[in-house]
Amino acid sequence: MQFPRHTLKKAWQLRAELASKKTTSLALTEDYLAKAKASKLNSYLTFMDAQAIASAKNFDAGKSSGMLAGIPLGLKDNLVTEGVKTTCGSKILANYVPPYSGTVVKKLEAAGSVFIGKCNLDEFAMGSSNENSAFGPVGLPQDPTRVPGGSSGGSAAAVAAGLAAWSLGSDTGGSVRQPASFCGVVGLKPTYGRVSRYGLVAFASSLDQIGPLTLDAQDCADLLEGISGYDPLDSTSLDRPVLHYGKAVEKIRTDATARHDFVKKLRVGVPAEFFAAGLDAQVQKAVESAIDALRKAGAEIVPLQLPTSKHALAVYYVVAVSEASANLARFDGVRFGDRVYPNGANSSLDEMYEATRGTLFGNEVKRRILLGNFTLSSGYYDAYYKKACQVRNLIAQDFAKCFAKVDVIIGPTTPTVSFERGSKTNDPLSMYLSDIYTVPVNLAGLPAVSMPYGTGEKGLPVGLQLIGAPFSELKLLESVAALETLFDGAF
Ligand code: GLN
Repeated sequence: MQFPRHTLKKAWQLRAELASKKTTSLALTEDYLAKAKASKLNSYLTFMDAQAIASAKNFDAGKSSGMLAGIPLGLKDNLVTEGVKTTCGSKILANYVPPYSGTVVKKLEAAGSVFIGKCNLDEFAMGSSNENSAFGPVGLPQDPTRVPGGSSGGSAAAVAAGLAAWSLGSDTGGSVRQPASFCGVVGLKPTYGRVSRYGLVAFASSLDQIGPLTLDAQDCADLLEGISGYDPLDSTSLDRPVLHYGKAVEKIRTDATARHDFVKKLRVGVPAEFFAAGLDAQVQKAVESAIDALRKAGAEIVPLQLPTSKHALAVYYVVAVSEASANLARFDGVRFGDRVYPNGANSSLDEMYEATRGTLFGNEVKRRILLGNFTLSSGYYDAYYKKACQVRNLIAQDFAKCFAKVDVIIGPTTPTVSFERGSKTNDPLSMYLSDIYTVPVNLAGLPAVSMPYGTGEKGLPVGLQLIGAPFSELKLLESVAALETLFDGAF
């Protein structure tokens, strides 16, 4: 299949077409819905036709306006939507229809966004390949025998294949950036607290953030602006001003002088640890070509050390499973979702719990609940969970030291390009290794973005990761915009 990314229209281009009346939101919406339904990628679990058509007609009637209005969007199916099934890719929620919408969904609705549907994901966002969905895997648009990454695989594949103009995912240890990297799109994980988590089904609450998946930096900036902001309904949301990300990126994108000045002042850190054993040679080459391009354009390149990052994967898989085991305790057959009675009306409460959780959770989810119960159990808590929290602090301090010297840290998003479906499913540790460069960022609460930069094995996209200090999304997105013009040779 011919990779369509360069033939696809970005959301900002669609906005211009809507403004000049070259098209209507209804025409766009019908077109995206038709393509999404005809696609064999399995990137959607539920379509939202009626709501999408109504939002589109509202826009065409002049009842909504702004950056997001009238433009088709995909929502990861762990974002709760009032009256619309929200499955989290799990059998336990196969029939769950939430009674409310989360803050981000409400913000988008109020901004006139058109929801095409709910995107496939690894069950409860646990995975790196989208093979853990109870509703089947998602294909990589460039080669459906390969994986789109996970856990926001459906959201990323939908954007890369032109089945949504843009989409939202969630990122706990890389689940926006890693699928963005595999599918060749832009994916941003905001600073912890930048975007409300109210109505995002919790996986690991101290790590989760909702983030945009888009075709370029401009769209990413516009969508981020639309979903950011303080929310009293999320006690970890931070009250910091929402910047005009879109305007800033537009300047870098369209004004060569501003672009050159920006890059000349940019200090780019390159951590040795991100280029160690395990990194595919072609991925490394692509990332180095980005660093070279920045150097030639006048950026200062600063070699760095992140010595504690070697512990990040181990720390992540203690913290994440601990929090997951607590968060998933609510799926007990009583409060949410489906219920299984093993012995009909004679089943005891305990038997019902066991049968519900035993039959309706998938293997990866069960593995993590077991591990999390272990790491939190008395006698092991200090050795695992508490120790992991201490090392997590050291990782955050390592990053803080680096950001005294540089504006952005650059490296690969993932060690390899997309892999074949089934190639890692029997080896969880090798699967977990695909997150080696993304998890340190969540542990430190930092913002980071993955952008496509060149290709590796079989011509598949390579993801370049840029990491910033807390609340430096603006600088990250400006850097991505500058790198896009560098890559296109239009600098
Ligand atoms: N792949 C990682 C995991 O399985 C990250 C998932 C995520 O970010 N939601 O935990």
